[in-house]
Amino acid sequence: MGGGVAGLFFANLYGDDLEVIEKNDQAGRKLLATGNGRCNFTNLNLTLDKFHSSGKDFYKFALEKYDNHDLINFLNDLGILTTSLPSGRCYPQTLSAKTIRDILYLNAKGEFIFENEVRDIDFKNHLVITDKAKIHFENLVIATGGITLPGSGSDGKIFDILRHFHKVTRLSYGITNYKCQNPLSKKAKGVRVTAMARLFVDGKFIEASTDDVIFQNYGLTGTAILDLSNYISYALLDKKEVWVSLDLLEAYPEEKLIEIIKKLGRENLNKTIEEILMGFLNEKLIIDILNRVKLKGKTMASSLTDGEIKNLIRTIKDLRFKITAINDEENAQVTIGGIDTNFVDSETFESKIIPNLYFIGEVLDVDGACGGYNIQWAYSSAKACAMGLLAKHREEINVKNK
Ligand SMILES: Cc1cc2nc3c(=O)[nH]c(=O)nc-3n(C[C@H](O)[C@H](O)[C@H](O)COP(=O)(O)OP(=O)(O)OC[C@H]3O[C@@H](n4cnc5c(N)ncnc54)[C@H](O)[C@@H]3O)c2cc1C
Repeated sequence: MGGGVAGLFFANLYGDDLEVIEKNDQAGRKLLATGNGRCNFTNLNLTLDKFHSSGKDFYKFALEKYDNHDLINFLNDLGILTTSLPSGRCYPQTLSAKTIRDILYLNAKGEFIFENEVRDIDFKNHLVITDKAKIHFENLVIATGGITLPGSGSDGKIFDILRHFHKVTRLSYGITNYKCQNPLSKKAKGVRVTAMARLFVDGKFIEASTDDVIFQNYGLTGTAILDLSNYISYALLDKKEVWVSLDLLEAYPEEKLIEIIKKLGRENLNKTIEEILMGFLNEKLIIDILNRVKLKGKTMASSLTDGEIKNLIRTIKDLRFKITAINDEENAQVTIGGIDTNFVDSETFESKIIPNLYFIGEVLDVDGACGGYNIQWAYSSAKACAMGLLAKHREEINVKNK
């Protein structure tokens, strides 16, 4: 069930004796939107701490056995050349997600049954019931994705069916942007800076990321925020207090900046603090920063007290935003939550509740960070499941032959 990314990997790795039921008229629709259309399919810096799941270390076996190099080799063997950025993010050489989608579909085994939406599953009679047909199964692999980008097919309706026979954990949205209680003013809208973003939950430091931050009317977005996103979404789900602090001048220690401002004030008696800061910050941010420390832009830099300068620099290096809610659910990149992995075998991906039932990809309660980790998960889980099923068939044949 599901001809998305995980379903396509599975259909390449398993064998001909397979039917893929997909509600869209094509496979891998969401895949086309990944990595801004370029498909960031894995990361050279793959580590287990980039993942989260309800079952402790549930993802360990599959990600270690079928890791990023295994995925790169698999794509290369299909004839897809790959490339990577200094950040470790990997892409097809064509920088087009369509390359990966089309070649995965071209090489997929089995039969794709398009425009069939699964509406129910009859486990007693081994039937998948779609809006158009009843399809018999021996083993059923569910790869129906999560709740993000519903227009791509994964609208989450399937969880209403899955809930009847499996535990589904709380569902929310990760790798997305956030509303703040105290966003910057309209003047700063769209300004992109490179900053260190530090996340604090209930006052405790959690994680930091240095990358792009973009100021919006609603709050914050940009790669650094997406990097922290899954932690933020979990904290919001738990109704915790969430703050992001931005260091807009990470390369400069506080004392050094204080010294520089004092020196510039002394040497430029006719310059305002607003004019001095023009060499420090994007000019569209200056008024907001000065407002936060209750300084007027026209104040002469030379007239600032030591306390005022210290306060100003601290604000530039610790610009705080209280995060109140997820801003964009529909365009979030990953689902937080899904099938509770405590009830799924981490090596074969078979349900511990219903035999011959398997789950792979984003439908499981496993989320990876921004940077290619979720497609990697789709691959690793699909491969572990395919290898497990093939081994099971070999065993069945051996038993029959004895
Ligand atoms: C905008 C965007 C950008 C992203 N960029 C990246 C990136 O660069 N790198 C990365 O690693 N991850 C990225 N992701 C995340 C990644 O796309 C997903 O984690 C991945 O697609 C999950 O694969 P999946 O096969 O489990 O689910 P999907 O790819 O969502 O596939 C599920 C399939 O099941 C079908 N389906 C659902 N319900 C039914 C039903 N009832 N009957 C029949 N069929 C059904 C759907 O139509 C869909 O085709 C991005 C996500 C988004 C939204």
